[in-house]
Amino acid sequence: MSRVDQKLEEIEETIRNEVPAGISISDVTFEGPELVVYTRDPKQFAQDGDLVRRLASKLRKRITVRPDPDVLTRPEDAREQIESVIPEQAGVTDLDFHADTGEVVIEAEKPGLVIGRHGATMREITQEVGWTPEVVRTPPIESSTVANVRNFLKQERDERRDILERIGRQIHREEMSDDQWVRITTLGCCREVGRAAFIVSTPETRVLVDCGDKPGAEGEVPYLQVPEALGAGASSLDAVVLTHAHLDHSALIPLLFKYGYDGPIYTTEPTRDLMGLLTLDYLDVAAKEGRTPPYDSEMVREAIKHTIPIEYGDVTDISPDIKLTLHNAGHILGSSIAHFHIGDGLYNIAFSGDIHYEDTRLFNGAVNEFPRVETLVLESTYGGRNDYQTDQEDSERKLKEVINDTYEKGGKILIPAFAVGRSQEIMLVLEEAMREGDIPEMPVHLDGMIWEATAIHTTYPEYLRDDLRDRIFHEDENPFLAEQFNHIDGGEEERREVTDGDSAIILSTSGMVTGGPIMSWLEHLGSDADSKLVFVGYQAQGTLGRRIQNGWDEIPVGNGTGRSNTMKMRMDVETVDGFSGHADRQGLENFVKTMNPRPEKVLCVHGDESSVQDLSSALYHEYNLRTFAPKNLETFRFL
Ligand SMILES: [Zn+2]
Repeated sequence: MSRVDQKLEEIEETIRNEVPAGISISDVTFEGPELVVYTRDPKQFAQDGDLVRRLASKLRKRITVRPDPDVLTRPEDAREQIESVIPEQAGVTDLDFHADTGEVVIEAEKPGLVIGRHGATMREITQEVGWTPEVVRTPPIESSTVANVRNFLKQERDERRDILERIGRQIHREEMSDDQWVRITTLGCCREVGRAAFIVSTPETRVLVDCGDKPGAEGEVPYLQVPEALGAGASSLDAVVLTHAHLDHSALIPLLFKYGYDGPIYTTEPTRDLMGLLTLDYLDVAAKEGRTPPYDSEMVREAIKHTIPIEYGDVTDISPDIKLTLHNAGHILGSSIAHFHIGDGLYNIAFSGDIHYEDTRLFNGAVNEFPRVETLVLESTYGGRNDYQTDQEDSERKLKEVINDTYEKGGKILIPAFAVGRSQEIMLVLEEAMREGDIPEMPVHLDGMIWEATAIHTTYPEYLRDDLRDRIFHEDENPFLAEQFNHIDGGEEERREVTDGDSAIILSTSGMVTGGPIMSWLEHLGSDADSKLVFVGYQAQGTLGRRIQNGWDEIPVGNGTGRSNTMKMRMDVETVDGFSGHADRQGLENFVKTMNPRPEKVLCVHGDESSVQDLSSALYHEYNLRTFAPKNLETFRFL
């Protein structure tokens, strides 16, 4: 008998001793990090509201209870009974029965009402029909990404269960070594921004953290082929952990599956969906620019199929000697700080990913309290000695001034913005400003992927700032549903109508004017001296956005015809700083200064050479920490 089967037998024995007589246990298996308990008596199991929680804390595992398929109420009857248990205000939009696992997926507008107080309604459902309910939110704004991901996972349910069982046995395998050491190898994003990738290794385990591309430098990918990474074969990796969906962290994750990786990706649920949206767009852009993408869309689906979503704060076994916990990073939807607890109290590492330390309109600020941390791997994008950002309140005031001026002239305001994050932040500023009368009411048109990204935000309100989450729960207060927001879905014709119409604000991708619908808007509005182009985000070297910012006034026109012609730009250009998703220098220092516990070592990464050097030396001098500004391909041994 293998060690895993032996372990499962011991667990089954423990459970038998714990549950009241009369409740049968027919099987116990691992599915990924979770323990699944099968019973012929699901109704009795659900009667004791505290039983699952007691088992979970005794076994230190997340537990799912499933009924044996042959004790289930028929779906037709179960449907009626379930509908009578759930209050009508929950707004159930779909019930989906999976007889093989005894699960019923309930999609509802208000999931909280399906769950009930401390899960009371869910337990009542199981007591009535025996099925195990799983609850998901109906997106308040229809999202094709969320719908596609859910449908795809439904279709692949059987294969996914096989994958999870295999991963479950991997996680719970026997430890092979008595050695104790912990290492980090840097594969990218050191003394540079982009291509984030690190390996955490122990005698038992090898984990890849992030795997991104480098914007503006196609072909410069992380050093995946070294022996510490994929050099020993893709199957030598135990797990991949993704901090957030930005392409400089996620773009090359699907590539791993092309190289033969077949293991799990741990990340939050919204990050999984945003990764799907952004990597498919990444392939699209490459095709349009005539480049051969490094993988095809089939690999994006593999990545989604292998994703095991985890929530902030859940401690999850990912290998025999590593536990992972994700914490809010305040940067974009679903963004996380990845905390690794290695061995039984042996060593702890936190990877910041990208962080924003203070609260923003969209997110609570990054978490910096952990049970233990010896080493912090810290982003340094704005770590330079002069990287202080304008206060957001001042930025908002300036944006409103610019809008009022342009409105008075009868012009239009065109804002290039990234689909994920900055757009939603600006939408919240505009919604509030109109509601409070700081700027006149006028339509706000959203073009490109902005609408879709916004829909994904409203699907996961739990990941948004507390007060914003509460407003989304009360439908009539959901700021993203305000009537001035209009999704441009009618293409060129609709853009022309907007151009010919009254004053309006237009938010459009791409954020650095490197393609996408913003090119059409510039063509329509560029010659209008009364209109204004307003930059609210960072414009990288080499982008058209940066050139325009620096006074360039010729823009390519003739969408789709090679853009061989140029047009003289007469519209005003303005830059409003301060809407960043990154902590500035002060924010990074505050994050470290108030971190609890204080780390022993800090590796400053993910910043230009001078930024990482500045931040590293400041943290050393001011806070007396051991700091490093590693290059790519360095390995640190911690024990
Ligand atoms: Zn980022």
